Amino acid sequence: MALRLEELKRRAGECIEASSEPLGELSRAIWSRPELAYEERQAHGALTRFFAGRPAWAVQPRYKLETAFRADWAWAPDGGPPGLRLGFLCEYDALPGIGHACGHNLIAEVGAAAALGLKGALESLAPDGPLRAPAVKVTVLGTPAEEGGGGKLKLIDAGVFDNLDVVFMAHPFQKDAPYKSALATHHGIVKYYGKASHAAAYPWEGINALDAAVLAYNNLSVLRQQMKPAWRVHGIIKRGGEIPNIIPSCTELAFFLRTPLLKDLPVLVDKAESCFRAAALATGCKIELKRECPDYYNVLPNKSLQQIYMENGKSLGMEFSDKTISSTLSGSTDFGNVSYVVPGIHSYFYIGSDALNHTEQFAEAAGSEVAQQYALRTAKALAMTAIDVIFRPGLLERVREDFRQAKQEEQEH
Ligand SMILES: [Zn+2]
Ligand SMILES: [Zn+2]
Repeated sequence: MALRLEELKRRAGECIEASSEPLGELSRAIWSRPELAYEERQAHGALTRFFAGRPAWAVQPRYKLETAFRADWAWAPDGGPPGLRLGFLCEYDALPGIGHACGHNLIAEVGAAAALGLKGALESLAPDGPLRAPAVKVTVLGTPAEEGGGGKLKLIDAGVFDNLDVVFMAHPFQKDAPYKSALATHHGIVKYYGKASHAAAYPWEGINALDAAVLAYNNLSVLRQQMKPAWRVHGIIKRGGEIPNIIPSCTELAFFLRTPLLKDLPVLVDKAESCFRAAALATGCKIELKRECPDYYNVLPNKSLQQIYMENGKSLGMEFSDKTISSTLSGSTDFGNVSYVVPGIHSYFYIGSDALNHTEQFAEAAGSEVAQQYALRTAKALAMTAIDVIFRPGLLERVREDFRQAKQEEQEH
């Protein structure tokens, strides 16, 4: 059995290699036309065409959201209904101003490649061969708007993840890692409304909404010393006034508030909102507090999936030397919410560069030729992990048990 499983994994790798050219083109097409959250029309077009042009994939463009999609392929050796439904997630949104500085073009490529590899491997199985498995449905999900906007949260609400048993995705990073903790996040918008007036002639008639914004920013800076070390607050003044000779009557700030534990997030949000309200009180402005999108949850680990991913990754030459990486802080992802709905893995992969995410250098690396070999290697490791989930006796049960336990531990915290 072990030998046959290795053959099957090798077959998945060969299928991915055989499509390396179109996969690279897909990645470059997305990278060269960066699109922001919910505007990823070119990327959506490139990905849906990619699957529509391949045999046996049933593609649903604009699936639940305008720039989301779904592509399904069913493997039913004995004609039965799918007993196991595996999802591969693609992201493809970029960042304002710096393009694909988080490398989501590579996430899309890896998701597509892993699904192709798994399909090719399963198709190579003789129907009367010794490897037995339930019928499998492979689903590629295009999930827009990860960098703010919470595309996956909308897809969760639409029930898209209800019919999946295990989901797989991988994110570009400086190192290979099966897991890294991601912070729970609140995306807040603060608006202050004051009263305009001539800033030199009769400033006393005005109510200064920019003063409120500046105080809010400073109040949060003061709060920082009293926060737990791993909590994060950071924001910008999006609108600060029109011209110096008018007392600004309307200002707007955007803030991200983040905590490693989901239960701490409302505590931090509460403290931050006190800072915002205090600024309104001090200046006489009216305040409006809004959520830009629902909160992102932290990512729950799945030890069994991570272990299998590491075994497969090592066999392909990945190095997982840095033991501290899983606990080092990172950003946040809407995959966190997915990890509370369905068991899954959100691994990280090296792209041939030391550049940090959300920098111009990372954008350059994500579009480089060098990144391709690492993206394909990661896709192979994901496809191999999916093969283990399908065929290794007892693994799926352990993955489900890990999911249940991780959720329970989070609630007990
Ligand atoms: Zn990012
Ligand atoms: Zn990202």
